[in-house]
Order: sequence, then structure tokens, then C-alpha cells
Amino acid sequence: FKQIVTVDGPSGSGKGSLCQLLAKELGWHLLDSGALYRIVGLAAQQQGVSFDDETALAQLAANLQVEFKPGAPGEPAAVLLEGKDISQQVRAETTGALASKVAVYNGVRDALLALQRSFAKAPGLVADGRDMGTVVFPHAPTKIYLTASAEERANRRYKQLKAAGQSVNLAALLEDIQARDDRDMNRAVAPLKPAVDAVVIDSSVMGINDVYNQVMIEINK
Ligand code: C5P
Repeated sequence: FKQIVTVDGPSGSGKGSLCQLLAKELGWHLLDSGALYRIVGLAAQQQGVSFDDETALAQLAANLQVEFKPGAPGEPAAVLLEGKDISQQVRAETTGALASKVAVYNGVRDALLALQRSFAKAPGLVADGRDMGTVVFPHAPTKIYLTASAEERANRRYKQLKAAGQSVNLAALLEDIQARDDRDMNRAVAPLKPAVDAVVIDSSVMGINDVYNQVMIEINK
């Protein structure tokens, strides 16, 4: 299956908005792989599963009853866990931290592989994550690595969360982003890094439309 574009990069680089826009314009499916790790983190917390227990966490990931309900054009999909809409909790900043804790385990990552690959269907797939181009879809014809400085990413997240009515602190956000980068880039399993054949785009100094245009050129090459 050939119509796949992978978009990897650190949190807050603009991957989410870019992937939603790409999926909408191309009419392709969207895989928000971060949401899967977030859901495992949330479910573990809710069910009192220890974040040190790889076997139990992997089992949780393997049995996830999760469903994505496409949102209105340009809107993120709703996330249903066992039929319950948990979209708000999934996107909370605290949930991102839980996600990066369960994401260090090979057992958890393996358990989510088949589910992620099942999203690769006609007419095409936009895959958003950390290891889409390196591990999950190594044969994807177009691979993008989207990055931006930690300061710029903290600023963006600050504006996003504020607009969503959440109380936030910029310095705490920056610290959180740096801690998450550190965990994601230095973990033993599937560390965050560009695939050797990825096109690296720095969005610090580019608007989303310029990034989108550059990616479309890559897809059409
Ligand atoms: O992209 P998002 O912020 O939703 O991801 C949350 C966390 O899930 C990341 O910080 C990372 O630790 C983990 N993740 C991952 N591999 C992916 C997607 C997310 O390890 N493909």
C-alpha cells in the first residue's frame, strides 16, 4: 500500500494541525498515534495499573477498545474508549506526560503496532507520531520530520491551551516540553529521530500554510 505520508517530530512542532489539514485536503485517513499512547496512559491511571509494570501495560494496550469518530472538517476526531467520549482528557497536558511514560516500553509499542498499521487503507493515510517513518511505516514513500525550537513550541502550546480555557504557565510548559523531548529522544526503544529518508522541516520560522505547501510538493514528487 503506497499512499502514506508519515509526519514525525517532537510535541508542539505543529504536526497535529498539519496532519489534520493534509488528511482533509487529500481526503485520506488520519492516524493520531499519540492519542493511542495517551489512551493507554489514561486507562492505566484509571485502572490503577502501575507505570512500572510493563506486562500489565502491554496487556492493556493490546486490549484497547478504542474508536476514532471523525470530526467536522478541520476538527480533530473524537476519541471513544469503550464507547465513552474521552477526547478532552486525551488532549490534556497531564495526559501527554502519562503517554510518554508508557511509551518507553517495547511491550506497549509492539501491542499497538497492528492497530496502527490497520489505519493504512485506501485512499491513503496521514500518520502523525514519533516513529511513523522509522518503525511503523518504514516503506512510506513520503516521510516528513517536523521540528521547531522548544521555546517556540512552548509558546504555541501556551496559546492553544489558553484559547481552550485552561489555566497555564509558560515556564512550566517549557520545562514540561524539555522533559518530554528528553524522554522521547533518549529512550532505548524507538527514540525520536528523523528517518534516514525523511525531509526535515523546521517550522519555527514558517507558517502552517508554507509547511503544508512544502509537504504537498514532497507528496507529489
Ligand atoms: O503526539 P503526542 O503529544 O500526542 O504524544 C504523546 C506522547 O506519546 C509522546 O510524548 C511520546 O512519548 C508518545 N508517542 C510515541 N510514539 C508515537 C506517538 C506518541 O512514543 N508514535
